[in-house]
Amino acid sequence: MKYSKKILSKVFVLILCSAVAVTILVAQQFKKESLQTKTQQQSQEVNLKRASFWESLGNKVVACKLCPHRCVLKKGETGFCRARKNINGTLYALTYGRPVALHADPIEKKPLAHVYPGTRSFSIATAGCNLRCKFCQNWEISQADAEKVDVEFVPPKEIIARTKATGCKTIAFTYTEPTIFFEYMLAVAKEAKAAGIDCVMHSAGYINEEPLRQIAPYIKAANIDLKGFSEKFYTTFTNGGLETVLRTLKILKEEGVWVEITNLLIPGVNDSEKEVRKLCRWVKENLGKETPIHFSRFFPLYKLANLSPTPISSLMMAQRVAEEEGLQFIYLGNIPQQTGEQTICPVCGKILLKRIGYNLLENNIVNGKCRFCGYAVPGVWD
Ligand code: SF4
Repeated sequence: MKYSKKILSKVFVLILCSAVAVTILVAQQFKKESLQTKTQQQSQEVNLKRASFWESLGNKVVACKLCPHRCVLKKGETGFCRARKNINGTLYALTYGRPVALHADPIEKKPLAHVYPGTRSFSIATAGCNLRCKFCQNWEISQADAEKVDVEFVPPKEIIARTKATGCKTIAFTYTEPTIFFEYMLAVAKEAKAAGIDCVMHSAGYINEEPLRQIAPYIKAANIDLKGFSEKFYTTFTNGGLETVLRTLKILKEEGVWVEITNLLIPGVNDSEKEVRKLCRWVKENLGKETPIHFSRFFPLYKLANLSPTPISSLMMAQRVAEEEGLQFIYLGNIPQQTGEQTICPVCGKILLKRIGYNLLENNIVNGKCRFCGYAVPGVWD
């Protein structure tokens, strides 16, 4: 019995020592992990860019004021665009310096028909979008989560260097929605201006007035999607709003930005003659008859994969209606083997810019004027 007690006490001491050792090890591991997490959080915060256009609502809740969604975000939450995050009560731009696409494209692909024809534009995009267009052509990147994409950090100065290295004349903010990489776009555009390089953008125009006026002086030309001409269409198919886009178009014009418009015609959705006529009339009355309009053919994909491609007859109807409403520069896109990409002189009727697809074959604009009749062609020329 005595012997057993001795053994038992030894076993007890052994268990006690082991428990203490395990506790120390667990505590050390916990301390190490929490230190690692803290360091990761700190380095994440150091690498991220503080967003512009937001306000604190107290209790580490913030409201983003970049676009009309005005997301109210609690600590740790990310905006509707998946590109801006509340980290510990501060809003960060997850897209800054993190492009998912970098390409040297023909400027005709933006599409911009009256801007430095035949040149290339260094085109950049980040992940995310503040819209949810059911017909999005770049949904793989526009609907990606900016925090989860694995991309290299490309600082603004590097964009300028790559633009020069690829022989591009301009920089384009495009593919996804430039609004949601506002801070990056502005930083690149400022560097570009200092380097004597013009910037252009292709945007859905769903942005608040203050940020728009801040970026406008750095943007030479913009193609804005006017996706339809009813609030119902915008709400149902895009999660955006028509009034905001119309305001954007007027502000850009006011700010001296060269504006072109893209209208994607989706069969049975936004391609009625009545809607197209209303759209064209608004463009002429508010932006001027010289505003180029690009009617683009829809192909079934993403959430509207069940539809058919836009019939060519719908595009021809849109062209006729735009002419009847007095618009001078009408383009038809996404139709191979057609002549809808030519720029025709509205005075003498001769071809100013002959194109096939994105290729410029002939340029009859000299010093901004028609070579045949001397008409001063509106646009951005060398
Ligand atoms: S930019 Fe993004 S976070 Fe800000 S309001 Fe718009 S959707 Fe929300």
